Amino acid sequence: MSDITVVGLGLMGTALANTLLSAGHDISVWNRTREKMEPLISAGAHGATSLGEAIQMSPVVLISVSNYEMTSQLFGMDDVVGQLAGRSVVQLSSSAPKDTVDSEKWFVDKGASYLDGAILGAPSDIGNDNGQILICGNEQSWNSCEPVLRCLAGNFQYLGENIRAAATLDMAWLAQRYGIFVSTAHALLLCESEGVSADQFAKTVAGDRAKIIADIVHSGDFSKPSATLSVWNAAHEHIRKHAYDMKINTEFPDFVSNLLTRAEDAGYGDEDIAAIIKILRS
Ligand code: NAP
Repeated sequence: MSDITVVGLGLMGTALANTLLSAGHDISVWNRTREKMEPLISAGAHGATSLGEAIQMSPVVLISVSNYEMTSQLFGMDDVVGQLAGRSVVQLSSSAPKDTVDSEKWFVDKGASYLDGAILGAPSDIGNDNGQILICGNEQSWNSCEPVLRCLAGNFQYLGENIRAAATLDMAWLAQRYGIFVSTAHALLLCESEGVSADQFAKTVAGDRAKIIADIVHSGDFSKPSATLSVWNAAHEHIRKHAYDMKINTEFPDFVSNLLTRAEDAGYGDEDIAAIIKILRS
């Protein structure tokens, strides 16, 4: 048996799997698109031929797919659901707090223990000292999974058994980020209107995150995102829905949602989120 199975090898899942391998763990991997498994198998991971087999291969199953709907579809399949008893499931896909309650209940009903986590950073932050991951759920499960998970972030915090905690703080962290993205795009438009370059903005008054966006706009190359604009839009949808569900003000999430959806509709879904400036320019 390997130490841990990683399910989902997108941008984030691949970073998680590579970091676990580099830390010396014996890992198994599964991804819908098999080609994404090949580099990891070459680096020493065990490749599963099916999701059911992937679950059988390790006591801990780490999930990094697009969203919880996807997790439900995949793990609810007839040949998969029966493999879950006795496994420790660690969900690192993004979601809204209310989904974490249903997810925990669903996995526990199938005989698995469940931890719910949130990654506050990009794939390049995984395994770094400044990488931050929040996790919550069954304490016993955390104690048994911690030795293998610890390598994934310098700042890995267990928040206790309130299963909504990590997703809530993730949304709060992200809400700040969307504000920075939109305000930076506006700051860059302001500079453009006065003939001041994005480079000058980056080198003078831009904060750390704004500088990254300004550098991308300055280069004109939006094609190498650490997370695609579509992924950002999907994550933002949780924030927008949460505002409606909890009856808090929706003006900011509605505005951001409208902007990101227009950018996706314009064909920028696979680009960096800095591409929202192209929508604002028009
Ligand atoms: P991604 O690159 O788009 O990868 C999505 C993953 O989900 C892939 O493994 C994909 O499989 C799988 N998937 C999608 N639809 C599927 C389906 N119908 N059946 C089976 N598998 C399916 O996304 P990512 O950036 O890795 O993000 C993964 C999770 O991490 C998301 O919840 C995201 O919010 C969260 N996250 C990402 C970042 C980031 O910076 N990237 C940061 C924090 C949190 P295929 O390869 O077959 O398409």
